[in-house]
Amino acid sequence: MLDENIKSRLNFCATLPSLPAVAVKIIELANNPDADIGTACQYISMDPVLSAKLLKTANAPLYKSRRVATNIRQAVSILGTHSVIVIALSFSLSSSLMKGSRAGYSASFNHDHFWRRSITSALACRALGEKLTLSFLDDLLLAGLIQEIGILAFSAIMPEEYEPLYSAHKNHDSLLKAERKAFGFGHDELGYALLKKWHIPDYIALCCIASHSHPGPKSHGPTLQACVAASRYLADYFLFPQEADKLDNVVEAAHDWLGTDCETLIEVIKIMEAGLKSIEDLFDINIYGSLNAANVMSEAKDLLVVHNLAKIKELEEKSQRDGLTGAYNRLYFDETLLREFHLSAQYKLPLTIAIIDLDYFKQINDSYGHTAGDALLTAVVGAIFEQIRQDDTLSRFGGEEFALILPGTTLAASRNLISRLKDSISTINFKVDNDRIINITASIGVASNEADTHNFLTPLDMIKAADTALYAAKNSGRNRIIEWHPLLSSLKL
Ligand code: GH3
Ligand code: MG
Ligand code: MG
Repeated sequence: MLDENIKSRLNFCATLPSLPAVAVKIIELANNPDADIGTACQYISMDPVLSAKLLKTANAPLYKSRRVATNIRQAVSILGTHSVIVIALSFSLSSSLMKGSRAGYSASFNHDHFWRRSITSALACRALGEKLTLSFLDDLLLAGLIQEIGILAFSAIMPEEYEPLYSAHKNHDSLLKAERKAFGFGHDELGYALLKKWHIPDYIALCCIASHSHPGPKSHGPTLQACVAASRYLADYFLFPQEADKLDNVVEAAHDWLGTDCETLIEVIKIMEAGLKSIEDLFDINIYGSLNAANVMSEAKDLLVVHNLAKIKELEEKSQRDGLTGAYNRLYFDETLLREFHLSAQYKLPLTIAIIDLDYFKQINDSYGHTAGDALLTAVVGAIFEQIRQDDTLSRFGGEEFALILPGTTLAASRNLISRLKDSISTINFKVDNDRIINITASIGVASNEADTHNFLTPLDMIKAADTALYAAKNSGRNRIIEWHPLLSSLKL
């Protein structure tokens, strides 16, 4: 927490520029729910630089207006009263603070870098809002712009202590951590105190501080605060694009705070690309200096495409697997069998399937507990995976029952593999309590369609046949392999 000492240092800090009269008036307006367009125009007209900026803004491509504003009143009517107030506040705050920065207070602090960060965040924050079709785009611009104002406050009130910390941490989150460790509070709290001192409306000030703590599991969604948080990571990446893990942070922040994916981020970067020039013009700053912005942005998009593909693959793969054993799940089995069945019919290829059921498995659970049973199931799957080929599919069919699809394999060709499989299960020496070793056996039912004589007309018939053979294996003493035969189906098992 900020102590009183810090608050008074902030209040009496001579190196932080005081706000110009126009900014103070505009803040008053921003806090007044009844602020009217006439008063806003009157204040803005008092400052010719600000007036020129607002005109430029109203006509900037960023605002996509079809009308051209030639005076402040028109600009205000294009942008709307609330937007004008918020934009005027953004400009007057940044220009007075930048002027102070350039005049060189706390000379060792890298002001250029700070402003590049702030304006990139503002651009990113607004772009996120635009992509997510939020209606408060100018609030987003302002909040993005001033979210890190605490950094500036640190550099003003304790320049010597702060500078080494700031230059040592290029990553926003590690900077915040280091501040908290060194001073007991971070730039989030200090920034909030400064914004309160300036009477910046609470909805903006609060969102700047709140966006610094990690969101709860249900808090994401396109809010002002969530966009501010995500914009910070985008800015972090664009300022130091060479640091590979920064893009991971962007992806994570967008997911955690906003629930959005890489595709959305790519669109957001496109909006940033389109708005970059306008923002640089309006804030009189060159964000990238010698870096080529177009390259940085297009590289980010490429990396996000790769990220996205990897993520989709990972999710797909996850959704196909059984969580306990890592074998494929039942749904994947059904889809694969259907596909292989049709392929085998179409191209006259053999196809064999096997259903493997562990013997007396209930007793394992009863004697050694369910957790030991689970671990044994996983060991069995591991043993089977070691035997099969890449084209073969092992799925968990039910509790302790597994199904194997062997494409292109005749019954005769499957014998060797299936018998090795059965052996590899029975030779698992599974350790339970007190280093006791237990063993397990399996019963296996097999069914095949040969290349030219198809016994089964549907995948379901084939499953039923393998199941019938499995049942026969159980009934004739377990721990054996039985191949389906027409006679089996006519036997009453
Ligand atoms: P059989 O030789 O006739 O196959 O006897 P069995 O005991 O293996 O057969 P049954 O089908 O009666 O029981 C299967 C048992 O498998 C019942 C259940 O407790 C156990 N089982 C099913 N799924 C799991 C699981 O995910 N983990 C554990 N630990 N046990 C499971
Ligand atoms: Mg069993
Ligand atoms: Mg069973």
